[in-house]
Amino acid sequence: MRKSPSNNIRLIIARRSYSTKEIAKLLGIHDRTIQEWHVNGLRPIDEAAKPFLFMGGEIKRFLSERRSSRKVKLGKDEFYCPRCKAARKSDTQNIEIINTKRAIGQGDESILINGICLVCGCRLNRFSTKNGLKRLPFNQNDKRCIRILEGDLFLPLNTDIEEDGHNEK
Ligand SMILES: [Zn+2]
Repeated sequence: MRKSPSNNIRLIIARRSYSTKEIAKLLGIHDRTIQEWHVNGLRPIDEAAKPFLFMGGEIKRFLSERRSSRKVKLGKDEFYCPRCKAARKSDTQNIEIINTKRAIGQGDESILINGICLVCGCRLNRFSTKNGLKRLPFNQNDKRCIRILEGDLFLPLNTDIEEDGHNEK
């Protein structure tokens, strides 16, 4: 019988901090899963301090948000809004595509897409991969609105974007 992490979530104490290994052990899951959670929006106490420590309350928040987001079907240009608790589109001027430079599987890297909820203004996250991004429309709606946070970013249509830039003015 496979253990589901949700069985042990109640063992996590909100006001305590946990290392990746501690969470993995407590929930009976692999260290790598916690690393994926981090990429997917689990926030450590300090992004600059490694190894990361996570507050119990943050782990609970992340897992319950993820649970509800899984019940919501997202369209290609939609995000799960944690405040609306529904699928929402982002203001296109505030879409950011971030290459986390974390390898996922063979020859793929994880990509985080940030946006701002058009309805409530809440910050939105959507997780994708370098290959998955090719199937998403974010770079096609309004290419010039996409800002790049970290250098060396992969954009599937970056040749188009460059051409647009050269043509401007
Ligand atoms: Zn919202």
